[in-house]
Amino acid sequence: MSRDVNNKYWDEELETLPREELEKRQLADLKEIVQFAYDHAPYYKRSFDAAGVKPSDIKTLKDIQKFPFIDKKTQRDTQGIGSFLGELAAVPEEDVVFVSTSSGSTGELGGSIEATRKAIEDLWGAEVYDFYGLSDIFGACAAMCEAKDGLHIAENHILVETVDIHTGEVLEPGQVGELVFTTLRKHARPLIRFRTGDIGWIDNTPCSCGRTHGRIHISGRKDDMFIVSAVNVFPSDIEAVIRELSGITGEYLIRVFERDFTCKYSVEIEKNADNPAADEAVAAEVSAALKARIGVKPYSVVVHPDGGLNTRSEHKAKRIIDERKLDYSI
Ligand SMILES: [Zn+2]
Repeated sequence: MSRDVNNKYWDEELETLPREELEKRQLADLKEIVQFAYDHAPYYKRSFDAAGVKPSDIKTLKDIQKFPFIDKKTQRDTQGIGSFLGELAAVPEEDVVFVSTSSGSTGELGGSIEATRKAIEDLWGAEVYDFYGLSDIFGACAAMCEAKDGLHIAENHILVETVDIHTGEVLEPGQVGELVFTTLRKHARPLIRFRTGDIGWIDNTPCSCGRTHGRIHISGRKDDMFIVSAVNVFPSDIEAVIRELSGITGEYLIRVFERDFTCKYSVEIEKNADNPAADEAVAAEVSAALKARIGVKPYSVVVHPDGGLNTRSEHKAKRIIDERKLDYSI
């Protein structure tokens, strides 16, 4: 089979499937995989029974919401039980021909933060496209199209939900929460309602590229989040603000600490060498921009000269220091 290299689609029929048809196929696959998981993976049999749900409860896509979550911990706890592949496995070991190993991180984010992606494009004079993959599921689960407005999900393979990070309550498209994936066609080790630990929102509005598969916008990792005055703060949101402002280099360091028994954050930045503004004025501008975007202003903004932060020297510079986690005990 030869492909037309001038066609922007990989599989035009599939990528532009009317949503109604796409969802019909998703539902058929969902029913099949949930039944398969229940029949073949010991973990799912046990957890569905404990939750009082059965595969035949799936009548619409929304019915997946009745089923229990799994997460990274479930994977760890069930690994190696029964067989090498563990209790999430739904096929005998001898039927599996390839086992993928991962570095242990969950979401693998590329230049997911819009401002960072743009900065890379400016620096290299190249187009940068983002993709999102979970090694637990398979390489790429979602990828950016030429419209660069979120990442299209491979919805023929994955059913995606967003849930409240604290309560697990299912959210509407557009609301920011934890991304939850269900694999629709992976039989060796199906993942039913896998909490990814990645924070983002779903966009099902039509995309200018013509693809009908929904998009995800990723804002950060749940593990990196901290709470200031009841507001969920993501370092990635702080980064986006810092990268967008002019007159500063875009380098930054975030400190999270406790003052008067409440969580605070401070931000250190670098002023451009040719920026004539006073440090106080730069700090006030950064503080106001953070307050506007995040909802809580930083405890302080420290302004360094260009190159004053040590964040460029290392390959993977540490940009967040959580002083609450430092252990002072002897
Ligand atoms: Zn698109």
